[in-house]
Amino acid sequence: MSEEQKKVVLTCAQPSGNLHLGNYFGAIRNWCSYLDSHECFFGIANMHAITVPYVPANLRKSVYDLVAIFISCGLDPEKCHIFLQSHVQGHSDLAWILACLCPLGQLERMTQYKQKSAKQGESVGAGLLYYPALMAADILIYNADVVPVGEDQRQHVELTRDLAIKFNNTYSDTFRVPDLFIPQTGARIKSLQDPERKMSKSDANQSGCVYLLDEPTVIRKKIGSAVTDSGCEIVAREDKPGISNLLTILSACTGRTIAELEAEFAGQNYGAFKAAVADEVVKKLEPIQKTYKEISGDKAYLDKVLARSAEAAQRRANRLMSKVYRKVGFNELQK
Ligand code: ATP
Ligand code: MG
Repeated sequence: MSEEQKKVVLTCAQPSGNLHLGNYFGAIRNWCSYLDSHECFFGIANMHAITVPYVPANLRKSVYDLVAIFISCGLDPEKCHIFLQSHVQGHSDLAWILACLCPLGQLERMTQYKQKSAKQGESVGAGLLYYPALMAADILIYNADVVPVGEDQRQHVELTRDLAIKFNNTYSDTFRVPDLFIPQTGARIKSLQDPERKMSKSDANQSGCVYLLDEPTVIRKKIGSAVTDSGCEIVAREDKPGISNLLTILSACTGRTIAELEAEFAGQNYGAFKAAVADEVVKKLEPIQKTYKEISGDKAYLDKVLARSAEAAQRRANRLMSKVYRKVGFNELQK
């Protein structure tokens, strides 16, 4: 099948810090399953990363870290486009047009906006509110068929679908309404220190997050000191969020069901269980860390991946944007 005939996958991660187990199990690992069957665009969302306070030099460096970790996690750049959002013209142009169609109240109701703005108080920037319009543009500008994300992004992809439908109804059929894909296991990995909340790159409490590049000793320490629940049973239950989270992580690492794991660890203590979880996480991350060490210093290679991908992404974005400009009534430049 030619690239043109393949269905399109689009999804992004922010260069807002080191990737963690949630990003891997909820997102990247599943992205790999599309490499042979779909045309894949995997974006590094640096324009989203400036919606919260950040340091420009760190942002620039994090982009390279993210390209290297994407490749290390199995996103073969020969089979997909790993592009930087700000390299492609059109994302913010389309975001503006979509924002003009988007009711303000819908943006104000977004859970991520409420959570992230609460951390910033009075100084919260309008970009954080506008974030879902930019994300909708990221997806629609490639006319994506499917968007694989973690559970936390469900609301934003649903808004994207609403905006695509609204645009099509207002101006005539233009966008595909993309499908949402959320994995069955690992869609919401929780913080080890606060299992009511999701593991997040931007979490101030680093010990709640297992990063993909953490040393084995650090991983063992973090999992060993994960918050657990009262009682001593190793079962997944609503009143046991800490143990449930560790069972989810173990299930995502091993491919075994939670029920199988509950049966295996019945009667064992929390210490032995945590050690087993840590062993599996270390084993899972070892090949990723090995590849990362090999390629992360090769900036020329990483730049080449970004340049090639930006070209492919720009071609696709241009096609859609000229259509969009025509439909919304923007005049073409006459020379
Ligand atoms: P930030 O705190 O800066 O928003 P993040 O950890 O939420 O960072 P993103 O770059 O926003 O990471 O998200 C990248 C992908 O990882 C998205 O598809 C998102 O749904 C997924 N994801 C993020 N956190 C988790 C988690 N705890 N469990 C499962 N998937 C997650
Ligand atoms: Mg996020």
